[in-house]
Amino acid sequence: MPILFRSTGLVGGPDFFVTRGGRGLGVVSMSVTVAVVERPDGLVLIDTGWSRRTCAWPEEHPGRLAKLLLAMKVKPEDAMASQLLSLGYNPGDVKHLVATHLHIDHAGAADDFAQATLHASAREWAIARTLGRLRGYDAALFSRPRTASHVLSGPPRLGFPASHDLFGDDSVLLLDARGHTQGSLAVAVRLHDGWALHAGDAAMFARDFRHDRALPLSPYQRLQSHDLYAQRASYGHLRAAETEHDARVVPAHDLKVFESLPQSAEKAWACAWDKKKRKGR
Ligand SMILES: [Zn+2]
Repeated sequence: MPILFRSTGLVGGPDFFVTRGGRGLGVVSMSVTVAVVERPDGLVLIDTGWSRRTCAWPEEHPGRLAKLLLAMKVKPEDAMASQLLSLGYNPGDVKHLVATHLHIDHAGAADDFAQATLHASAREWAIARTLGRLRGYDAALFSRPRTASHVLSGPPRLGFPASHDLFGDDSVLLLDARGHTQGSLAVAVRLHDGWALHAGDAAMFARDFRHDRALPLSPYQRLQSHDLYAQRASYGHLRAAETEHDARVVPAHDLKVFESLPQSAEKAWACAWDKKKRKGR
């Protein structure tokens, strides 16, 4: 089972507020998309979704107000640690957590995988420490035993201006997708036919990056982006990845895209290392 996708429950927001070019008052349901990647040495999660604690008691963490504002719909079994059991894995199989950024809907479940290394960009670690809880970061991240901080000093890849080859074998690339936060990443996993690219919140929805100039930005995009110019540049990089580099782009909160993704071992996309394995047989 090489790469599949799960959502830890749903969040929501008014159409006019969260959707680029949206006008309606109705609530748009959004996924909280996590990629589960099986490598020969264990599992890698790209983003973690909400934690077990949050899925069981959202009123307590992130709290009643946040639950209401985010229109959170979560059940205890939505946490990735529970979903992995239903996929036939143990939470202990997870060796690496790669956070597109450190907001709690993306890295909040790191606590459920204490034995795994939590990877994020050096810029993201720095800004999370500076801004803390007020801007959607959880101080608990800083006391975890295993973390890794990455400087993107590698060459331009997949249409992005800078990269880092996470495992040194060209199988997982960290790409500079700053804008939503100062240290946001897009994370690419090499498939046997192209790339799977988790965009995090560099694009919450596919329409965010596919229609760059044609649609007005949403109020959410304007309010939440740390750097709107950088965010727009990241939309361009995502477009290039999709149109010129065979990348299947997965925005973190696009429920329609999520529903089209493989969510079971049978449907999982094959990764490059599976091909090597098959050739070796
Ligand atoms: Zn998010």
